[in-house]
Amino acid sequence: MPPSLLTPAVRVEAQTLTTGELPCYVHDLTALQRHAATVRAALPRTVELYYAAKANPEREVLAALAPWTDGFEVSSGGELAHVRAAVPGHPLAFSGPGKTADELVAALAAGVERVHAESLHEVRMLRALAARTHVPGRAPTRVLLRINPAVPDGTLAGSALTMGGRPTPFGMGAEEASEALRLLAGDDCPGLEPAGVHAHLASGLPAGALLRVAEAIVVAAAELSRRHRTALPEVGVGGGMAVDYTRPGDRFDWTAYGTGLDALARRHPGLRLRVEPGRALTAYCGWYVTEVLDVKRSHGEDVAVVRGGTHHLRTPAAKGHDQPAEVVPVESWPHPWPRPAAADGRVTVTGQLCTPKDVLARGLAAPGLRAGDRVVFALAGAYAWNISHRDFLMHPPPGFRFLGGSETPPATGC
Ligand SMILES: *Cc1c(COP(=O)(O)O)cnc(C)c1O
Repeated sequence: MPPSLLTPAVRVEAQTLTTGELPCYVHDLTALQRHAATVRAALPRTVELYYAAKANPEREVLAALAPWTDGFEVSSGGELAHVRAAVPGHPLAFSGPGKTADELVAALAAGVERVHAESLHEVRMLRALAARTHVPGRAPTRVLLRINPAVPDGTLAGSALTMGGRPTPFGMGAEEASEALRLLAGDDCPGLEPAGVHAHLASGLPAGALLRVAEAIVVAAAELSRRHRTALPEVGVGGGMAVDYTRPGDRFDWTAYGTGLDALARRHPGLRLRVEPGRALTAYCGWYVTEVLDVKRSHGEDVAVVRGGTHHLRTPAAKGHDQPAEVVPVESWPHPWPRPAAADGRVTVTGQLCTPKDVLARGLAAPGLRAGDRVVFALAGAYAWNISHRDFLMHPPPGFRFLGGSETPPATGC
């Protein structure tokens, strides 16, 4: 038997939620905090851990992560306002292409600690707005230039998404970054301070490849700093730590990554390295719990239709994978007619949408799966509900349960 995909608390919830409460997103915040503690412990003390809020911005998730993180990465004005309200007092870094003047004014007014500038135009806009809105005596907003450096051939191969190392809307090339730094390092920039370099080049990489990415970013930052004789003490090396949906028990090798970052930091004394994982922090703490409405035989295969679908859990449709899932059997059957059940061991699980794309998992091992049984989809804690086209077909939205979450970091701090 492979280990269960459910924590004991989630299993109890999956058994006790009533039909009327399904589908339901269940988050195990204690499991989240234990995972975050493991990640934090694997990273050197000198490396800052930010959480990329767009992976899962639920307030309860942000609050649960706050004690283990040094700050939050936000990628829009909306996220900025939301995260600031959810975890007041925690440092924010504002990234994202196409920031509007309104968003930048709001960020400056909110006293956001860091802005990751995506282009020369954005730096010019920031300078103009900061000059207008600067309050003397207030700590300057630290600006990190987002770059899109060249990386060694093959480094980004196999990533799920690539934001860099090729033409994209993200970050600046070496010349553009150089010009941006020249503008920022001038003494006519009240309210802004050039602080470093940031990049987020790919999503879904293993530790070895991400370390090569980090090295390339650090080298590009050192080069820029040398060329301008300007200290750039902060280097954000992004997120993108892999989550393997085909092997839900596996985890990104945080120990190897932490060891490698430690070695990198030692080669560049005085550097403040920052990582900003999203998916690899929260994916494992969320489950989408639902029930089988119908089971049918279609052209020689078993198909189970569950309450809800990819309009709630878009992850398998967006990534083209089978969402890992486990069946929680329910023995009662309220009807006098026979209970629909799967004939084979393998079942395709779909949702209620009137489109053949509404597939949550193909070939789920679920011998004898019956209408009324519960299906619990795991690894649904990142890029799940918040990326879903929730209003399509006007089904009721899922419920939300947040379990536990009162762990505290060790007294020595981290
Ligand atoms: C999305 C994003 C992240 C997080 O990426 P994951 O693949 O979820 O780890 C980090 N930094 C930036 C700038 C992002 O846009």
